[in-house]
Amino acid sequence: MIAACSVHVRGVVQGVGFRPFVFRLAQANALAGWVLNEENGVDIHLEGDEPALESFLRDLSAEPPPAAQITAIEVLRSEPAGLTGFTIRESRRNGRPTVRISPDLPVCGECLAEMRDPSNPRYAYPYINCTNCGPRYTVIERLPYDRPNTTMHPWIMDALCSGQYHDPMDRRFHAQPIACPSCGPRYSPSIAETVAMLHAGKIVAVKGIGGYHLACDARNRAAVRAMRERKYRKEKPFAVMVRDLDLARTLVHLTADAEALLQSPARPIVLAPKKIELPEIAPDNNELGVMLPYAPLHHLLFDQGAPDVLVMTSANRSSEPIAYRDADARERLSSIAEAFLIGERPIARRVDDSVARVGPFGPTILRRSRGYAPGAVCTLPAPGPILAVGADLKNTITLVAHGQAFVSQHIGDLEHYESLEAFRETIHDLTSMYEVNWDELLVVHDLHPQYFSSIKALELPAARKMAVQHHRAHISSVLAEREAWDKRVIGVSFDGTGYGDDGSIWGGEFFRGSVAQGFERVMHLRSALLPGGDAAARHPVQCAAGFLAQLDSSPAFDAAPFHFPKRYYDAMQLVKSGVRTFSTTSMGRLFDTAAALLGFTREITFEGQAAMWLEYIAETAPACEPYPFPVLNNELDFRPLLASVIEDRLRGLPVPEVARAFQRSIADTLCQAAQMLCEANNIDTVVLSGGVFQNNLLLAGIESNLEVWTNSAVPANDGGISLGQAALGCFEQSHA
Ligand code: ZN
Ligand code: FE
Repeated sequence: MIAACSVHVRGVVQGVGFRPFVFRLAQANALAGWVLNEENGVDIHLEGDEPALESFLRDLSAEPPPAAQITAIEVLRSEPAGLTGFTIRESRRNGRPTVRISPDLPVCGECLAEMRDPSNPRYAYPYINCTNCGPRYTVIERLPYDRPNTTMHPWIMDALCSGQYHDPMDRRFHAQPIACPSCGPRYSPSIAETVAMLHAGKIVAVKGIGGYHLACDARNRAAVRAMRERKYRKEKPFAVMVRDLDLARTLVHLTADAEALLQSPARPIVLAPKKIELPEIAPDNNELGVMLPYAPLHHLLFDQGAPDVLVMTSANRSSEPIAYRDADARERLSSIAEAFLIGERPIARRVDDSVARVGPFGPTILRRSRGYAPGAVCTLPAPGPILAVGADLKNTITLVAHGQAFVSQHIGDLEHYESLEAFRETIHDLTSMYEVNWDELLVVHDLHPQYFSSIKALELPAARKMAVQHHRAHISSVLAEREAWDKRVIGVSFDGTGYGDDGSIWGGEFFRGSVAQGFERVMHLRSALLPGGDAAARHPVQCAAGFLAQLDSSPAFDAAPFHFPKRYYDAMQLVKSGVRTFSTTSMGRLFDTAAALLGFTREITFEGQAAMWLEYIAETAPACEPYPFPVLNNELDFRPLLASVIEDRLRGLPVPEVARAFQRSIADTLCQAAQMLCEANNIDTVVLSGGVFQNNLLLAGIESNLEVWTNSAVPANDGGISLGQAALGCFEQSHA
């Protein structure tokens, strides 16, 4: 008795060896029929006897290819058409694509073994790949994912590649970026030359998967110092790429979770506690960012004797976007790199390395980019497409198409012209890839009228636009990750800067509500004046002036132990006269104030530096009692807190102890306030988001009987804002 069924599979199922897998599975079960890629996933038609069909369906969900992510399998009974044999059919396009684009994958074990085998035709070939591994998002120019639509289209396959590409039993069957040394792109100069340059302490620009890296020997202090000078990157930590996991274990303390993260398909940079100090690499920091080789080229470098720990940093100056086009890289990097290692395969779009860590609440992503983007983070009940454009710092965008929320790669800080270009490109890229109809599109942007992202959003030719407040977006990003739309929570957003409902600068906010019903602000940090606008965020002493002005009495801050520079007194003048001052409830600025009181009186050289320093110096201090940080009239009153810090400083208490007590106080008061609000509102869950929650010491101090939810799939910093905007936009439009 012959039965038939049609099967539809959704998720990341294209470009991951899914059709050959289906083909082999059908053959193994002696089933006839066909498989094809279409815009929503993979369609399969099967004919054969009942037990064979059942066995096929069992294995389909049980053992998919390693890189596939199945989100749904639909099976429908159909009529047998009397087919014989199983075929792979041409891709079909009827409507708009909703298939998920696979993120880039690290080279697999089989390809690596071939690359190291002198008798293999792809021996030492840096573009080796197969359906289980290799580039995806960074080579795709448009959908569907077929070779003519990738950056590999100029290279014509030779007999070897073509044979494997067309052989359903081969691991490279329909591997779109397939290549070999005789027909594919090349790298120049030789790996050996590059290795020699690295040993000589030179800086080499290396073309990678989603852009160029600048590489140098991480144990060569002079080389690292030269890198800092030429990149205009004074103190911000560098990440290193290490030869293998064993070596990583000698540099940092790795838990089982951290090792899993390090070896996960995204191969992110993993921040972990240092075991040893590599000079100049990550100054004033307890952690070191480590990653494993992921491109075949990286393995070749180490195989051929490159220094075993390499600085591998995005090829750019300060926080400009990473260079990815060859001509642009040559031009922009010529003053930094002494040599180039350039491959011919073009990069379709820039995608930086991702950054992750295992924090007190589990694995969390700090920069979501290569290996994750453009994956769907959640499914939203959105009737039409939504484009959320994020915030101006650490920008990402989120596109909701057919209910799936695709979060872009990290784009950067939009104050740079280059980043703004990248922002425009990414919007164009995602909306055209998913063929978004602009007449149906809802565009969501930040409430800040002067954000570049808001201004650009308002220029877009979309039907509808909506502004969402920054910290509500932070809270919603956590709930979106869990698709908890109706869940009523107390949301705590401790952050650097965000435009508030009242036009002041928020950042120490408590909300009550849900994504579906919206969030009401119910508590906040007592407000302070911020003198001189944006410059205050770069000068801890300048923002300290606004907070310290509210204390009843103050010591001489220009004397020991504070040694505040003149800038503090200039700022105090502004505060007293009310000229060029802004009102703020930012917790980030309160951290800056504490940092200034504890000795960080210079200008910061990268965002968040003073708060990171505060966390770093507290490391060595023993556990301690918190300072008073009371809640009065729904305001967290920082005055007793800062007065205690000053008092302990004057008493000569060690700086690490005061730093620790300060951070303990923030955690304690947060917990008490959240407890109070939850009890009063019959709520059992508190949500934490915002840049301040990247502080592990603070997170570790959160002790509560409440359910505590934090970000894991998107960053707690502004990299997660676009997802939260999309979620709030989705529900608010259904109210309207
Ligand atoms: Zn492979
Ligand atoms: Fe923020």
